[in-house]
Amino acid sequence: MLAINEEFLSYQGEGELAGTRMYFVRTQGCGVGCYFCDTKYTWKPEKQDVNEKDIVKRARASGAEWVCITGGEPLQQNLVRLVNEIYKANLFVMVETSGVEWHPVLKRFHWLCCSPKDLFTTKNYSLHKRFIEHAHEMKCVVTKEEDIDFYIKLLEGYSGIKTFQPVDNNPEIVKIIAKRNLKDWKIRIQQQKVMQLR
Ligand code: SF4
Repeated sequence: MLAINEEFLSYQGEGELAGTRMYFVRTQGCGVGCYFCDTKYTWKPEKQDVNEKDIVKRARASGAEWVCITGGEPLQQNLVRLVNEIYKANLFVMVETSGVEWHPVLKRFHWLCCSPKDLFTTKNYSLHKRFIEHAHEMKCVVTKEEDIDFYIKLLEGYSGIKTFQPVDNNPEIVKIIAKRNLKDWKIRIQQQKVMQLR
């Protein structure tokens, strides 16, 4: 059983899979504490009372081919049963995590998107180094120019997709990133906000 904040059908708005129709499963509970968090309503841990099989039944009924497990911080709960059920239903599964904790189930995700929050957390937290090896994508929120240099150093040796995401889709931050003209780094905004989707 899991603590779930909400489930809904929409289009992925962030990162490499932007534009893909997905069934979103937003977990409840996050102890990372980023100051710019736009889902603060998920922070408080709550009772784990949602059955994994029922979640996947709803995902299948939605018609989406992908399930996106997001949060909150999904890795604060045990996702093994949910991932098993998603596989049984022949759906694809991705996760959006801050990289705060590593669990072997992460190797089963078809897409593992990690957004390191070392710069923004109010807690004692740093990116778990297993993500450097296994994440398909690193989505790095930029709030000022110095953040860019921090991420370049943090992700030395990482060979997956590297994306800068300007905080709040701020056009001034987009300019700052673009001026750096960095090879191997993409810029992606949060499309769901522009399209007024969830
Ligand atoms: S990790 Fe995500 S959900 Fe948790 S505080 Fe940071 S932005 Fe919010």
